[in-house]
Amino acid sequence: MGSEPGTIVIVEDDENIADLVGLYLGREGYRVVKARDGESGLAAIETERPRLVVLDIGLPGAIDGLEVCRRLRKSTSVPVMMLTARDDEIDRVLGFEMGADDYVVKPFSPRELTVRIRAILRRGTELHLGEAEILRIGDIEVDNGRREVRLLGKVVPMTAREYDLLAYLAQNRGLALSRRQLLDGVWGTGWYGDERTVDVHIGQLRKKLGAALQLGTVWGIGYRLD
Ligand code: CA
Repeated sequence: MGSEPGTIVIVEDDENIADLVGLYLGREGYRVVKARDGESGLAAIETERPRLVVLDIGLPGAIDGLEVCRRLRKSTSVPVMMLTARDDEIDRVLGFEMGADDYVVKPFSPRELTVRIRAILRRGTELHLGEAEILRIGDIEVDNGRREVRLLGKVVPMTAREYDLLAYLAQNRGLALSRRQLLDGVWGTGWYGDERTVDVHIGQLRKKLGAALQLGTVWGIGYRLD
């Protein structure tokens, strides 16, 4: 992961919104690739290997934004910023199976969207800068170059946040980390969620990695990876 801003894929059928978001991201130095439905969106993401995907939920055709996100999560931990038209979609967007990293509700300010995109990408960069390319913890490999987790050589689908959490634990192996430390280190100090968020994500990691993840609960403190 270099210092160049890189590519962002925007999947949005509303041309005005796509253009506006593209304009703002372009000004930030990102290369923007647009797609107007789920199928071409998935194809663009596959070809471009973007640093982030801006994904509208309501898309024409057979595959809506939620389905695009679900499919992406089978093979990649690329960060996903959801665009949603309705408040009541948010619970589904943030559902961990869906694996979106953040969302904005329309109408949104493109400025705020760019700020939040920058925050997501900065988190990734800070976390991995100067680290070894591949961290090994028993049967688990955390590949910082590909942002990929492998169990016995097989890729385990992760959301971006789950990936960051595991990478952070791996980098601080053997240390008891409090939920607050994990929130600050992985979600960033500006994160407004509560500490149970950490437990939910730890639960997902345990579910995905099973007994291979030697993760201890340190009572009264938090977690430690052995
Ligand atoms: Ca739409």
